[in-house]
Amino acid sequence: MRSFLKMKPSLHPVKHHLSSSIVSWIEDEDSMAGSSHFTDSEMSEDGYSHSNSYLSRNLHDMHISVRLIEEFMELAKENTSSNLETCGILGASLKDGIYYVTTLVIPKQETTAHSCQASNEEEIHATLAGLSLIPVGWIHTHPSQTCFLSSIDLHTQYSYQVMLPKAVAIVNAPTDQTRQVICRDFLCILHYGIFRLTDPGGMAVLRECKESGFHQHPQTLDGSSIYESCGHVYFKPNLRFEIVDLRTS
Ligand SMILES: [Zn+2]
Ligand SMILES: [Zn+2]
Repeated sequence: MRSFLKMKPSLHPVKHHLSSSIVSWIEDEDSMAGSSHFTDSEMSEDGYSHSNSYLSRNLHDMHISVRLIEEFMELAKENTSSNLETCGILGASLKDGIYYVTTLVIPKQETTAHSCQASNEEEIHATLAGLSLIPVGWIHTHPSQTCFLSSIDLHTQYSYQVMLPKAVAIVNAPTDQTRQVICRDFLCILHYGIFRLTDPGGMAVLRECKESGFHQHPQTLDGSSIYESCGHVYFKPNLRFEIVDLRTS
């Protein structure tokens, strides 16, 4: 995958006030006017994300820049090529009932081909609190697996959804061709899904589960699946975002 940032001169660095591990960009609105990331059909096929949401704003919808996902994949590239997962936390601010994902925090992490565990959680909390951001979910890679939530992922997602019912898990699975989404304007291909536990079904299963490691979960009481694709996440062309990479701090 090619990095959008290396291709678009309209992005320029903005000043930041924390440590040097923060990188941030602001997108030039004029240069983005009229551009769209995905065709309507490409987006609606999957049913979990939409580029044209201006007429369907709902309380606690989530807005995110597609470049944030691209940049995350760029930061994860070394791990991905070594068949190691990478994870990050999505920090958002709440304005007029909408969560705007403004920051991607890459924590120090312990990673394998099938799991990724953030370490030093105090550092993550301090970073988010310092920027007055709400953790609205997480993003991680499946370098060689398909796009889904593993049993360990479900427990991680549970901990986010307990704090914030609208929290999401974004999974990037570059080898999963069934998840291919082409962003025409940016000449990139992304393979991702956006998920959450069903509530009450999946949440109840995870609340009761005391197991760790990879394991099977029982059926939900109401027969629903344990997790589902999200319909409240929207990609926006003009969102400013920052990346805080704590791995290098
Ligand atoms: Zn996973
Ligand atoms: Zn479990």
